[in-house]
Amino acid sequence: MMTTRVLSALLIFITTVFSTAFTLPVKAASVKASPGQASEQSVVIFSLDGFRWDYIEKHNAKNLASLAAQGVRAEYLEPVYPTKTFPNHLSIVTGLLPSNHGIVGNHFCDKDRNQCYKMGHGQDDSSWLKGIPLWNLAQMHGLKAATYFWPESDARFNGMTPSYFYHYSKHSDYQQRIDQIIQWLKLPEQTRPRFVAGYFSLVDTMGHDFGPDAQQTYEAVQKVDKLIGQLARRIQREVEQDVNLIIVSDHGMAQLDPELSLQLSDLGIDLSDFIVKNSGTQVWLGVVS
Ligand SMILES: [Zn+2]
Repeated sequence: MMTTRVLSALLIFITTVFSTAFTLPVKAASVKASPGQASEQSVVIFSLDGFRWDYIEKHNAKNLASLAAQGVRAEYLEPVYPTKTFPNHLSIVTGLLPSNHGIVGNHFCDKDRNQCYKMGHGQDDSSWLKGIPLWNLAQMHGLKAATYFWPESDARFNGMTPSYFYHYSKHSDYQQRIDQIIQWLKLPEQTRPRFVAGYFSLVDTMGHDFGPDAQQTYEAVQKVDKLIGQLARRIQREVEQDVNLIIVSDHGMAQLDPELSLQLSDLGIDLSDFIVKNSGTQVWLGVVS
């Protein structure tokens, strides 16, 4: 079997609570020589939604810690605003700020269009989406690209879907996602994707429901850590070409103090005068015209 190289990087986007950013010193990645195969690299980028910058240590994510030690780890990064899943994922994959890629919230209304967007709406109407996501860019260079979920990855950016993709289902089995990514990487050279994106929402869901310190969040971190560890091991054992493995998150998670939460009903306004979008950390009130 040909030698396989796994370069790993851990990029953690932190919650809105803290906005300073810096990166840790870089450790050299372990690289095995692979003569003649320099152009055969693939990229696998995997997002762990809501994976806070310190969950590796806080929730003892051994596999991610090992990958980070072999590769490059940013201690934390400043997320784009608003610190929501869709704006941040679209920024990661297009390199654009939300005002430029168009997805300025998980839910928002556009006065000029007189329409409202909600998560995943790009599949029905791709005119909400601007920019060139990395899977598009790979295809523009004549390469195949695949996504096993990423916000809006089943939409037609610039008239194109990824070469291989699935329509989003929160309930899609996590092991199946890993299996499919390995299968894609093992396809014959002419058909295999050189760019692959993957996505797990579980850590975000548990963080929202139970808080960053909860046992449920610990268990979610343990589950995705084991799966990412399996992905890295299987890339090394089963895949011929070199693979650059990048793990990212879109934002962090902060413990709420219920005493400090604000109820819309306490604002003393008639809510029927407003369009209300979003909840939780951010609520948008639009005047009904
Ligand atoms: Zn998120």
